[in-house]
Parts: sequence; C-alpha cells; structure tokens
Amino acid sequence: MEESFKREVPIGFVDYVQVGERKPVIISQKLREEFYNTFNELESMILERYVPEATPSSRKCNKCEFKKFCEYGESSVPS
Ligand code: SF4
Repeated sequence: MEESFKREVPIGFVDYVQVGERKPVIISQKLREEFYNTFNELESMILERYVPEATPSSRKCNKCEFKKFCEYGESSVPS
C-alpha cells in the first residue's frame, strides 16, 4: 500500500480468522524495516529457488497450510 499510494501507512490489522478477531498493529519505523528485510530475504530465496530445511519442530507442521505438499508434512515429520 505504501508503495502504491506513496504514503506511510501508520497502522495495519491482523485477522485471527479462527477466533473471529481483528487486532490493530502500529507500524513503527523499526517494524517497517524488519518487514522490508524479511521481504527482501524471501524475494532472494524465491529468485534463487532456494528451498529451506524443514523445521525441526513437528508442532509447526500441525497447522502449516503446506503440509499436504511438503515431504515432511502430515505423517512424515522429521524428528
Ligand atoms: S509441513 Fe513442511 S513446510 Fe510446513 S512447517 Fe512442516 S516442514 Fe515446514
């Protein structure tokens, strides 16, 4: 939105769909920088076709929306 409208966006909202709640998030300069750093890292990973290692925590796989496609998802979670 900031790039499209060429204006800083001071607040965003996160929807917690499963519990039907929406929470505001103040977008500080620090949070904005963290977002762009993470975004740039992800963009590099996608462009370089880098696939990260599977998570060592099977708890994360339980709610992962990619578990049906991931070789470690569902029943074959790494220990
Ligand atoms: S299912 Fe695959 S992609 Fe999802 S959290 Fe587990 S290892 Fe990561």
